[in-house]
Amino acid sequence: MARYTESVCRLCRREGAKLYLKGDRCYSDKCAIDRRAYAPGQHGQGRKKVSEYGIQLREKQKARRIYGVLEKQFRTYFEKAERQKGVTGENLLRVLERRLDNVVYRLGFGASRAEARQLVRHGHFAVNGRKVNIPSYQVRPGDEITVRESSKDSPKIKEMAETLVHKTPPAWLELNPEALKGRVLALPSRDQIDVPVQEHLIVEMYSR
Ligand code: SF4
Repeated sequence: MARYTESVCRLCRREGAKLYLKGDRCYSDKCAIDRRAYAPGQHGQGRKKVSEYGIQLREKQKARRIYGVLEKQFRTYFEKAERQKGVTGENLLRVLERRLDNVVYRLGFGASRAEARQLVRHGHFAVNGRKVNIPSYQVRPGDEITVRESSKDSPKIKEMAETLVHKTPPAWLELNPEALKGRVLALPSRDQIDVPVQEHLIVEMYSR
């Protein structure tokens, strides 16, 4: 699968917003966007007039980068959101939030979505007792996400487990830090999804 391998801080600088892609570093004074709050590249500091389409495109790219989703898959998510009842933009964010790597991150099992994705890929988690190593797996209300028995001795999991007691997941998730497990209580409402994205611009872009 194609993967973005350049500096992820460039992505934040390109979008002009903190996307929190690097875990703890994002909260420190080493954050690149705090130090250089302009777009990367030779013309990054130049003034540019951005078209309406350009604004919509940037919003879509921002959402894609926050969740670490490739273009084709993002389009598939949009089509899925369009087929669902309700507001398409909100449906889209909900589909993205339901990804297993995002839920693992939201529960506090990873400092960033990228780290959570790697933990999922390495087979450390089970959903309802069955191993799932697919980051895009869509969780449902009632699902129980647990660290697998065989992973509890992994140094990475142990290190992460120590920080769990300080984590507070969003209200649509429940965390049991001692048992290293979480539960999906409900699907998130828009106000429970704290991403700096104006989803209506994404809908407008795809509706052109
Ligand atoms: Fe973005 Fe985090 Fe890098 Fe700051 S440190 S630019 S928030 S990825």
